[in-house]
Amino acid sequence: MTTEPDVLDAERAFEAELLQAQWLLPTLGAGVTGTGVAMEAVIQGLQRLARDRVARHLPRPGALQSVRFPPVNGRSMLERTDYVASFPQLLGTVDVFSGDTKDHRRLLADREAGLPWDGHLHTSDYALVPAACHPLYAWLSQVNAATVDGTVWTITGDCFRNEPSPDPMRLVSFRMLEFVLVGSPEQAVAHRTAMLELGQGLLAGLGLAVTVEGANDPFFGRAGVMLAKGQRAAELKFEITTEIYPGRNTAISSGNYHEDHFGAEFDLRTPDGSVAHSACFGFGLERIALALARTHGTDLRTWPESVRDLLGLDAA
Ligand code: ATP
Ligand code: ZN
Ligand code: MG
Repeated sequence: MTTEPDVLDAERAFEAELLQAQWLLPTLGAGVTGTGVAMEAVIQGLQRLARDRVARHLPRPGALQSVRFPPVNGRSMLERTDYVASFPQLLGTVDVFSGDTKDHRRLLADREAGLPWDGHLHTSDYALVPAACHPLYAWLSQVNAATVDGTVWTITGDCFRNEPSPDPMRLVSFRMLEFVLVGSPEQAVAHRTAMLELGQGLLAGLGLAVTVEGANDPFFGRAGVMLAKGQRAAELKFEITTEIYPGRNTAISSGNYHEDHFGAEFDLRTPDGSVAHSACFGFGLERIALALARTHGTDLRTWPESVRDLLGLDAA
């Protein structure tokens, strides 16, 4: 059995190694890191490999559509996705200053006096995006139903979750590469199943020892316990995990079937008029890169040739 201090020591030692090798570049925010040259080459390779594999797996050419959304969306998105109800502990909104010069002078006076100055700001209508697929539903709700036809969308999104941790595997801002299908229930379930299999094969092919496990989201509070149980019982969420620290598995990817959760809230309808179901599969790009560093080391030159080939590292 691993004890708590051992876990913390292992996390800190891994973080120190990654900082030393300049895989992680420190910033001024706890739990927020930049990505160094080698780690970024791995992440770019992962994205190419995953998109190529998924595109080849889909039945018709052009069925994979790549879109991009910024890390900021309207604050109402947190309400519409139920994030504010289910995960208040993780969300982040954007504060702004909209005072006049007098207000600014008051702010500066507080700052010069060494007092907190954030009280001069107020919450804006903007929020940070917590999951790469959420902006997609908000967009699809504003276009016509012809696009809700089982197309698979791919998005790399910057995600914010207020969960600072000494563990470099748990960042406050990270990238998720998602493959999202909005369509019929059958299409959504089939997508989730196929993606879990494809993801597992891809990660195993990179030399990672992976396991697929039933999982639940960290729903907040006492009511959350019931929601988590329900999610597990209905087998809505699966994670692909790997052992980074002895005796403890970390999720590096996840496959989720949302039933009609987003379809109903965003009024997404399939061409025949029924409420759409959705499923998404997310590769945690930093987590996978760090799992690879854990397995093969931080020096890319010593990685197995097959892995270097898959990730196109020779060109990097
Ligand atoms: P965990 O169980 O570790 O809290 P999660 O279940 O909340 O993760 P998802 O919401 O399913 O994660 O997100 C999809 C993927 O994004 C995860 O499988 C993981 O690889 C990655 N991810 C999630 N949270 C973080 C984080 N704080 N830092 C880095 N990557 C993350
Ligand atoms: Zn998603
Ligand atoms: Mg989880």
